[in-house]
Amino acid sequence: MAAIELKNLRKSFGGLEVIKGVDLTINKGEFMVFVGPSGCGKSTLLRLISGLEDITSGDMIFDGKRVNALAPAKRGIAMVFQSYALYPHMSVYDNMAFGLTLERGHDKQDIRRRVEKAADMLQIRQYLDRLPKQLSGGQRQRVAIGRAITRDPKVFLFDEPLSNLDAALRVATRLEIAKLHAEMDNVTMVYVTHDQVEAMTLADRICVLRDGLVEQVGTPMELYEQPASLFVAGFIGSPK
Ligand code: ADP
Ligand code: MG
Repeated sequence: MAAIELKNLRKSFGGLEVIKGVDLTINKGEFMVFVGPSGCGKSTLLRLISGLEDITSGDMIFDGKRVNALAPAKRGIAMVFQSYALYPHMSVYDNMAFGLTLERGHDKQDIRRRVEKAADMLQIRQYLDRLPKQLSGGQRQRVAIGRAITRDPKVFLFDEPLSNLDAALRVATRLEIAKLHAEMDNVTMVYVTHDQVEAMTLADRICVLRDGLVEQVGTPMELYEQPASLFVAGFIGSPK
C-alpha cells in the first residue's frame, strides 16, 4: 500500500528546473532514504512533499488522495530539519507543545500526555523544564524529533538530521531514529542523508537522486550488488 506517490513531479525556481520529472512510490511503513550529491534536489523534494514548497507540475498522492495544493498542516506530515530550529526563549516542554497549541482540538491534558510520551520515547523527560541552550547538540536534536512526534504524523521527513552532530552522537541518534521507526506502527519515514553508512543501515529502500531525477531505487543490498550505473556504485560502494 502506497503512502506517497510522486508522478512526473517537477519544480522550477524562476527559469531553473531542479526537479525534472520524478516518479516514485513510497510504501506505508517504509523507511525510504534519499541520497545524491549536493544540489541534486533532495531538500527540494522533501519540501515539495511537506507542502512547504508548491510543485510546478505533476501529481502528489498521499493514501490515494491527490494533495498537490493541500496546506502543509493538513498533510499528516512532520518535518525534522538539520538545524535545530528550536525557540531559544521557550522551555523544552513548550517547544514540543507549541505546534499542538496551534492546532484545534487539543486540551492541556492531551498536550501534556503527548509531550510526555514523546519525551519518554526519546529519553528527554528530565529536560522538559530546561531551555534549549542548556542542552547538548544531541539532546536538542532529540527535542526537534520529539516535537515532530507529538503531532502524531503518519509520515516523518528528515533532512540530514544528524549532520551537525559529532560522530558518536550521530551513531546514537541514528539508532534512536531506527528504534522510533520500529516502535511506531505503519509510520513512514523519508530521510535525506549524504552519509553512506546512515543510508545503508537505516533504509528499507534507497532512492539515488541525480540532477533532479531518480537514478535508481532499491534495497541497500540491491543497490550494492546491482548498481544501475557507475554513479550509483560511487554512492553506495563498500561502506568505509
Ligand atoms: P540538495 O538538498 O540535494 O543539496 P537542494 O534541493 O537544496 O539540493 O537544491 C537543488 C537545486 O535547487 C540547487 O541548484 C539549488 O540552488 C536550487 N534551489 C533550491 N531552493 C531554491 C530556491 N528557493 N530558489 C532558487 N533555487 C533554489
Ligand atoms: Mg539539502
